[in-house]
Amino acid sequence: MTSPTTNPSTVTVPGATAEAGAKRVLLAAPRGYCAGVDRAVVTVEKALDLYEPPIYVRKQIVHNKHVVRTLEKRGAIFVDETDEVPEGATVIFSAHGVSPAVHAEAKALSLKTIDATCPLVTKVHREAVRFARDDFDILLIGHEGHEEVEGTAGEAPEHIILVQGPDEVDDVEVRDPEKVVWLSQTTLSVDETMETVRRLREKFPKLQDPPSDDICYATQNRQVAVKQMAGECDLMIVVGSTNSSNSVRLVEVALDHGAKDGHLVDYADEIDEAWLEGVTTVGVTSGASVPEVLVRDVLDWLAQRGYEDVSAVTAAEESLLFALPNEIRRDLKARDGKEAVKIRHDAGSLH
Ligand code: SF4
Repeated sequence: MTSPTTNPSTVTVPGATAEAGAKRVLLAAPRGYCAGVDRAVVTVEKALDLYEPPIYVRKQIVHNKHVVRTLEKRGAIFVDETDEVPEGATVIFSAHGVSPAVHAEAKALSLKTIDATCPLVTKVHREAVRFARDDFDILLIGHEGHEEVEGTAGEAPEHIILVQGPDEVDDVEVRDPEKVVWLSQTTLSVDETMETVRRLREKFPKLQDPPSDDICYATQNRQVAVKQMAGECDLMIVVGSTNSSNSVRLVEVALDHGAKDGHLVDYADEIDEAWLEGVTTVGVTSGASVPEVLVRDVLDWLAQRGYEDVSAVTAAEESLLFALPNEIRRDLKARDGKEAVKIRHDAGSLH
């Protein structure tokens, strides 16, 4: 990895300071790590530090290739299913959440479990449980096969109907149109989800909204920043992995809002020089599971090609932090005393 060569300044009006034809970069803020990803990654780091190996992680802790590779090198063992974990071992559940069936499997295998599910995903699980208890049909807007959707749907399989987008609305059937609510995956496109909801409401006028936004603050903020700058960008580079829903959405949002071209890359060396042909303004952002060091590498790569002028486009300030899972807090406290749990964010190194 290379060290940063750029020192972004903050602007609120994209393009206001640009000289015509001068190469420049607009850098989205916020970008990268959200509070749920930070918590999940630090949870694995702390578990590796606290407990005897092996430490198993069910699924990718967060959807980022670099994060998973780095934690693997430190000793974490990633598995796809709970039954791959030896009886009695320690397993961490990923930020995307798991269904009650997965908790039951872990219990049957006497696993020590550490649940790194993002609290904002847990909130959606609770909503699903509550509306199922009240016998609603729950229209869950999300992508089939995504781990978060599997976890949420598993809370109330008899009540949940998956709706993948506006085009699926016509086929949705419910038991009672008077008792219908929609919930969603946390990492969707805000605009597309609102269009899905609009069409669902046309079909089911009594459709209830979730008690609060299911698309999380981090997903929304990263999309707002991209929307603010997309119209100025000849090229948008989104740092993120192809299985990261919120990262993929950022490319789509950029293209929908005026970026002439857009690509998702895990690493700077995946950028194709040909993408820069005739390009004056490059937008750069990153998904919520992406460490900042990867963005710095992209900025360095661009700077080496004449894109040294970097301006931040700031859509929101973020300061949210989540406490670590109880199991980790308890064991840290037992080992290091009270102060240890307070400084945990200084200790996380995958930033
Ligand atoms: S993207 Fe949102 S829901 Fe997902 S881990 Fe981050 S804060 Fe939580």
